[in-house]
Amino acid sequence: MSVTLEGDGRLAGGLVLPTRKAESAAQPIGIAPLPSRLIYPLAADAGGDVEPAVAVGDEVLGDQPLMRAREGRPLLAHAASSGTVTAIEPRPVAGGEALCIVIEVDGRDERLACTPPDIERLRDHGALTDTLAAAGLAGLGGAGFATGTKLAEARRRGLRALLINAAECEPYLSCDDRLLRERAPAVVAGTLAMLALTDCPAGVFVLEADKSEALAALEAAIAQCAQATALSIVTVPTVYPSGGERQLITLVTGEQVPATGYPPDIGYLCHNVGTTAALAAFLETGRPLTRRIVTVTGGGITRPRNLEVRLGTPLADLVAACGGYRDGVARLIVGGAMTGRAVATDEIPVTRGTHGVIAATAAELGDRGTPAPCIRCGECAEACPAGLAPQLLHAQTLRQDPGGFEGLGLFACIECGCCDLVCPSHLPLTEQFRVAKREVWLAEMERERARLAEARHAARERRLVRRLAEREAALERRRQAARDPAVSSAAIAEILRRARGGNDDVGGGA
Ligand code: SF4
Ligand code: SF4
Repeated sequence: MSVTLEGDGRLAGGLVLPTRKAESAAQPIGIAPLPSRLIYPLAADAGGDVEPAVAVGDEVLGDQPLMRAREGRPLLAHAASSGTVTAIEPRPVAGGEALCIVIEVDGRDERLACTPPDIERLRDHGALTDTLAAAGLAGLGGAGFATGTKLAEARRRGLRALLINAAECEPYLSCDDRLLRERAPAVVAGTLAMLALTDCPAGVFVLEADKSEALAALEAAIAQCAQATALSIVTVPTVYPSGGERQLITLVTGEQVPATGYPPDIGYLCHNVGTTAALAAFLETGRPLTRRIVTVTGGGITRPRNLEVRLGTPLADLVAACGGYRDGVARLIVGGAMTGRAVATDEIPVTRGTHGVIAATAAELGDRGTPAPCIRCGECAEACPAGLAPQLLHAQTLRQDPGGFEGLGLFACIECGCCDLVCPSHLPLTEQFRVAKREVWLAEMERERARLAEARHAARERRLVRRLAEREAALERRRQAARDPAVSSAAIAEILRRARGGNDDVGGGA
C-alpha cells in the first residue's frame, strides 16, 4: 500500500448519538414489490438540464431512458419497469414540487436488451463521464454527485488513495451496513473497478468500529480477490458525523481538505459503498441504475427493514411493504434523521439520493423547545465538526446582511445539525445557515449579473466612442481631400463623368 494513514481516529467536534439502527439492521434486505406507478422528477437529482424523451401515451420498457440532455452532461433517469406514460405533470417531491414523468406499470416487467460497456473506452475522460451519466450513475450516499465526473476528474488530477465510505454515521440508517453484510463481493469488485478507472494504487474501506458483521464480510471478500494487497480496512469511532466526506478524510489520513477545495486537491477521492456496488453491476450488465437500497424505519413503521427498491417508487409503497404505519407518526422524513427533509405526503418518489425513509413518532422527535436568544455558551462551537463558531454565524444571520459572512466559514458548514442539538436556546441554527447560504449565493449571482451588465454597458460605450472617432476621421479625410487641388480636380472629373451617365466619349466625336 502506498498511502500512509496517519489520522488519529478522533473527530474534532461531533456527537455520540443514539444509533436507533438495531431493528432495521437485524433484517435481511427485502425486495420491494413492483409498484403500480413509477414517478420520475425531471430535475430532482439530474445535475443538469434535461427534457422528457417520452410523451404521454408512450409505452416504455424497463431500463429505457425517460429523459435526454438539453445541455451539458446531466444524469439520466430510466424506467424501472415496463408500462405506459400516463402523465408529465408537476408532482410533490422531497423539497417541493417538480415536473415528473408518471408511468402506469403494466406488470410484465419487460426490459430493454443491454450490453456491458467497453471498459477500454472508459479510459477516455469524456467517454467515462458521458457513459456513466447516461447510465444514471451517481453517489448513493445522499449527495448524489455524478460518479463518472468524479472518477474522470480524479484520474486527471492523480490519486493517492480511494476511500470507500461505509461510515454510516446518521442515526436510523443501516442500508450500507446490510449491503456489506450481504453483498461485500460486489462492493469489492466495484472498488477495484474504481481503482483501475482512476489509476489509483490503494483502496481503503472505512467502517464504524461497531459494525462487526459488515467488517467480517468485507474481510472475507477481500481475502477472496486477487488484488487484495491494494485494499485495506480502517475503522473509525461511532461518532456523528464521522462519515462526512471531509471529516472521514481527516479521521483516516490526518490531512485536511482545503476549505474551498475538494478531496482530489490533496490526492484522495471518497465514494459511498453503495456507489461501488452500483458501478460493479453496471460494468457487468450494462444496465442503468434503476434500483437502490433504502432503510425504511422509525417508531411509526410496523416492520422496519432495508428494501431494494425501484427508483420512482412512491414512499407509500415502501411503507406498505414494511407492514404499513403504526399509530402516532408525527413526521415523515426522507433521508437521514439529521440531514433529511420532512415531507408532507408519502406520494413522493424514491430517487437516487433516497437512502432512508423515517416515520418518526412524537416521542422520537422530542420537544424541540421555543427558540430564545443566544446566551453565548459556546456549546455549538464545541460540537461543530467543521471547526466553525455557529454562534457568530447565527449573530450574522440576524443582521440580514448577506455580505457580512466573510471570514465566518459559512460555506464550510456541512449542515450536520450538531449545533442545533446542543443549543440550550433551541435555536434552529442549521436551517438559518441553509437559508443564509442561499441568500449569499443569490446576492453573489445578483452582483455577478450587475457586473456583467456593467461590463456590457462599458463595452458598448467603448464601441460607440470608437465608431464616432472612426466617423470623424473619415470626415476629416474627406475634408482634406476636398482641400487638395489634385484630388479636387479628380473628384470634379468624377462628378462630371457621373453626370454624363458614365460616358467619357461624349463630345469626343465618332
Ligand atoms: S449553543 Fe446556542 S446559545 Fe450557546 S452559543 Fe451557540 S447559539 Fe448561542
Ligand atoms: S450545522 Fe454547520 S455550523 Fe452547525 S455544527 Fe454542523 S457544520 Fe457546524
